[in-house]
Amino acid sequence: MDLEKIVNKGINDLSPYEPGKPIEDLERELGIKNAIKLASNENPVGPSPRVLQMIDKVLKDTHRYPDGNATKLKEIISKKFNVNSNQVTIGNGSNDIIEFIARTFLSTDDSAIYSEHAFAVYPLVVKAVGAEGIEVPSKNFSHDLEAILQSIKSNTKIIFIANPNNPTGSFIGRAELLEFLKKVPENIIVLLDQAYFDYSSYEDDDVDFQILNDFPNLVMSRSFSKAYGLAGFRIGYSVSSELLANYLNRVRQPFNANSLALFAAEQALDDDEFMNKCLQLNLEQKKVLYGGLDSLGFYGLPSRGNFISFDCQKNSTELFNKLLNNGVIVRTLGVYKMPTFLRVSVGLPEENLVFLEKLKNMLG
Ligand SMILES: *Cc1c(COP(=O)(O)O)cnc(C)c1O
Repeated sequence: MDLEKIVNKGINDLSPYEPGKPIEDLERELGIKNAIKLASNENPVGPSPRVLQMIDKVLKDTHRYPDGNATKLKEIISKKFNVNSNQVTIGNGSNDIIEFIARTFLSTDDSAIYSEHAFAVYPLVVKAVGAEGIEVPSKNFSHDLEAILQSIKSNTKIIFIANPNNPTGSFIGRAELLEFLKKVPENIIVLLDQAYFDYSSYEDDDVDFQILNDFPNLVMSRSFSKAYGLAGFRIGYSVSSELLANYLNRVRQPFNANSLALFAAEQALDDDEFMNKCLQLNLEQKKVLYGGLDSLGFYGLPSRGNFISFDCQKNSTELFNKLLNNGVIVRTLGVYKMPTFLRVSVGLPEENLVFLEKLKNMLG
């Protein structure tokens, strides 16, 4: 049997997505108990206490299927953000949504556009359906919106924009983004990936769901994995026109979001006090990291998220491994074509101090 000949054409070129190393793996390997993971942009504080207090109530009902329509969660989202419930699509993480969009709009004759150094899942979902991925060179580690418009081909169906982008942290402000959206032909779907929206909008100049009124070809996705602290539950959503949401729901598996995840998201959306505390902490601690990196001679790219990618001026693998052997997990960015960079997530104050301390010792 020759698997290479029988798998879907696009899949031969793919490598599996490489997640950040789990804490348990490193602790086992090093025989230590206090490893620090600053590798996957999770909320270091944890989930909202409301989630933990009440999740038992849901546990006892897990012999039942979840609500396949996620009625309650959609209602909470619709009230909180002033959109219609029918505009909301629920995903098993927002990565699920990214995949729905590729599967809904792309076939093998089509192409989709994303930026160099943009989130790794875009090329993955595009190639998995056998479509052509067009990677547009970035400008200063940011999306080059003009170049993206220039790269549109007659078979282009989707443009992916991560705002803020992971791993660069780059951010496109409101005016520039709206100007861009106006120039995109209306038969091309734009996915505006707002996985870090809570962080970026806490600063300023971001766009909310109301801009959907002007752009029927726009899908805006958000995640509960980052600021909401629910990465392990796997839950995210998008808001779009009702018409578009109806199409996305056709490719969605009937029970893609489990009951615990739905419940956790409902609780988390209701806890503004916890969220604000986390956002404030992130802003403060991001400054601490920038300051520390700067004093050690590292340039950190300006980031609107809860992470910083910094330049080591030489291949970063050695530094990555040294940090690992000292119990600190960060992320190399070789797959993002940034081999001299490391990405560090903003952790708790004590975690950030340990990271900076170990980094300093390493430089000797
Ligand atoms: C983390 C991340 C996501 C996906 O997160 P989910 O856990 O699937 O919700 C999407 N886009 C970007 C840019 C991310 O960094």
